[in-house]
Amino acid sequence: NYRCRSAFKLLEIDDKYKLLKPGFNVIDCGAAPGAWSQIAVHRVNSTGANGESPRGTVVGIDLLHIAPLDGAHFLSNHDITDPVTLAKLLELLPGAQPHVIMSDMAPNASGFKEMDHEKLITMSLIDLAEKVLQTGGSLICKYWDGALAHQLQQKLSAVFRDVRTVNPKASRKETSVVFPCPVVQKK
Ligand code: SAM
Repeated sequence: NYRCRSAFKLLEIDDKYKLLKPGFNVIDCGAAPGAWSQIAVHRVNSTGANGESPRGTVVGIDLLHIAPLDGAHFLSNHDITDPVTLAKLLELLPGAQPHVIMSDMAPNASGFKEMDHEKLITMSLIDLAEKVLQTGGSLICKYWDGALAHQLQQKLSAVFRDVRTVNPKASRKETSVVFPCPVVQKK
């Protein structure tokens, strides 16, 4: 059982692009309540359930509390836009260089205007990917159609080799907003 229906978006993306592999180290941004992490734990084999495959790591972070999950390390009550968070994330990550960074972060009531928060989380995410993602590693992130989309595409194309936009079926009925996910590989 998944903790959240958003699981189906990631399943759809990963079934198509096969980005989560046994032995991989993954950062899950905006991880609460933890459905994407559940999928990652299974696919990177971070519990070691499959004794014949390499064992990966899953580190999740969220502003909210995230209930414990076997195979994942969580940084609850942490803000991805706070520079202190990066150091803490890297401490939890063996080799400090993730193969995959994924983000289902959404701007929420935070005192910021929505647009400012969207920009802040998006830019923090790309900054994180530029700093720590392995060469050839992948970023899966959500973005919104709007003023930021073009800017984001340009920025992503500068840092990543392959930028693909997918619009998971599972997210279409979720809300009237479109949630395309660029799936990208670092140059
Ligand atoms: N992928 C999750 C799952 O499958 O369970 C659902 C994620 S939910 C749609 C978006 C999350 O992003 C919220 O829990 C929210 O607290 C988090 N978030 C938003 N801004 C954030 C920030 N600046 N730092 C960390 N998390 C943030």
